[in-house]
Amino acid sequence: MTRETTRHQMQTESFDLLVIGGGITGAGVALDAASRGLKVALVEKGDFASGTSSKSTKLIHGGLRYLKQFEIGLVREVGQERALIHQLAPHLVIPEKMLLPLIKGGTFGKWATAIGLYTYDFLAGVSGKDKFKMYDKEETLELEPLLPKDRTLGSGLYAEYRTDDARLTIEVMKTAARYGAVPMNYVLAEKLIYDGEKVAGAQCKDQLTGEEWTISAKMVVNATGPWSDILRKQDRSLTDKRMFLTKGVHLVFLREKLPIRHAIYFDVDDGRMIFAIPRQGTVYVGTTDTPYAGDLDDIRVEEADITYLLDAVHGMFPTIQLGAKDIVASWAGVRPLIYEAGKKASEISRKDEIFESESGLLTIAGGKLTGYRVMALKIVDRVCKRMEQRFDLEFGDCQTKTIALTENPFESYQAVLDYEADLAKILTENGMDAKWATYLVQNYGRQTDEILAAMKEYSPDAMIQAEREFAKAKEWAIEEDDFWERRTGRKLFWSV
Ligand SMILES: Cc1cc2nc3c(=O)[nH]c(=O)nc-3n(C[C@H](O)[C@H](O)[C@H](O)COP(=O)(O)OP(=O)(O)OC[C@H]3O[C@@H](n4cnc5c(N)ncnc54)[C@H](O)[C@@H]3O)c2cc1C
Repeated sequence: MTRETTRHQMQTESFDLLVIGGGITGAGVALDAASRGLKVALVEKGDFASGTSSKSTKLIHGGLRYLKQFEIGLVREVGQERALIHQLAPHLVIPEKMLLPLIKGGTFGKWATAIGLYTYDFLAGVSGKDKFKMYDKEETLELEPLLPKDRTLGSGLYAEYRTDDARLTIEVMKTAARYGAVPMNYVLAEKLIYDGEKVAGAQCKDQLTGEEWTISAKMVVNATGPWSDILRKQDRSLTDKRMFLTKGVHLVFLREKLPIRHAIYFDVDDGRMIFAIPRQGTVYVGTTDTPYAGDLDDIRVEEADITYLLDAVHGMFPTIQLGAKDIVASWAGVRPLIYEAGKKASEISRKDEIFESESGLLTIAGGKLTGYRVMALKIVDRVCKRMEQRFDLEFGDCQTKTIALTENPFESYQAVLDYEADLAKILTENGMDAKWATYLVQNYGRQTDEILAAMKEYSPDAMIQAEREFAKAKEWAIEEDDFWERRTGRKLFWSV
């Protein structure tokens, strides 16, 4: 569908639900609502996933550190959810074993770690060979020789999942569109509109052409993450519960500069923990967690962030020497947390919360990438309840537990690996590097067949050309970064 057709549809039709914000939360809400039969429009002021949803640590995880804060309910919910999201998109949400080194004077002792990981696996329902394992000092140093020999006491190895946050958002959005949702990127919801006292849509502006139009909807969900309070203020419903934003930075290095063998979750001197995660020819390290009150549309990696992360790496891997010049890519984003008086940034809960205003504006904020489906379920349940009360309209129950996140999905992770092995063979036989098989499968799943069919020859350039056409025609890519960063991740991980 072209932008003109979408705009025409938005201008002329009336919707049950308008979702404002095209990050993972908005995409999840659009999919849940559309699959229950609601007529849904969604607007995103930049590209889909251009906010926090492309700036995360890219883990679909149970949040081990929340266990330390005794947020048992949260750990259980996201822990179980990660296995489900893996099933719904096995090519995109990939198992990744995480090493938790035990260091002299570190956060966790041996017994605390064993009990913690046992509880973590138990809450998340992890079973079989995926269950955690404990290693002694020698075994740990064999697993990860870069750890400090004098301070390493042992380690735990446990199951997590890695994803590409932006691609996950795009696939959820595409699935929502397959169920009839009408999403459009580069459209700002400038002003909420009201029918009497009740919110009834928004005045919108195309950020590329300047055209303006109104979208009418029975109900409106504000899924603008870090921007949530702007619409709540407009709605005169900004109460004492407001957003508290903290910045998180990640840096990417060449794997040869930081040749770790495992994804590692390790201690920093200030009592926090950070990740170092290998990804193809690179390793990314993060994150920082500092209060943020700056420009939401221009979040920068500062020198202090770089120093913090480099010091953390040097502290844990004493033979490694990295400098700012070794950074090959980076990203910075803000967490949309909900303010809690007297708490430090890293202590504030990552729980989600729904705010409902007198006008009927529903805002969903906080939460995690990992919990997007459950967040959507909760808010669409609320939307459906109000639809019945206010408009006498009934909609069905949540369907998303069984909706695969691509057309023609893989039935299992083994099927993904088999497909990738076959593809690697075809590509290498035709003179291309086998790494492109991993790249294609992890990005597109079986949609890779469409990219291959559009390639005029087997070459990296022909592949980019075919991908560009696919991104434009099927995934709403417009600007250069839409393609290089959010449709393909090439800019971050695949330029080497
Ligand atoms: C550093 C960091 C690391 C993280 N790591 C993880 C992790 O590993 N795993 C995990 O599960 N979670 C993680 N998270 C949390 C997760 O990334 C966020 O919870 C999630 O991405 C929030 O998504 P969202 O859709 O609510 O917000 P966003 O992705 O920010 O989406 C909101 C969108 O609304 C749009 N918008 C704003 N105003 C308007 C308007 N008026 N009109 C139209 N559009 C508008 C914005 O452009 C934006 O795209 C991390 C977060 C950070 C910052």
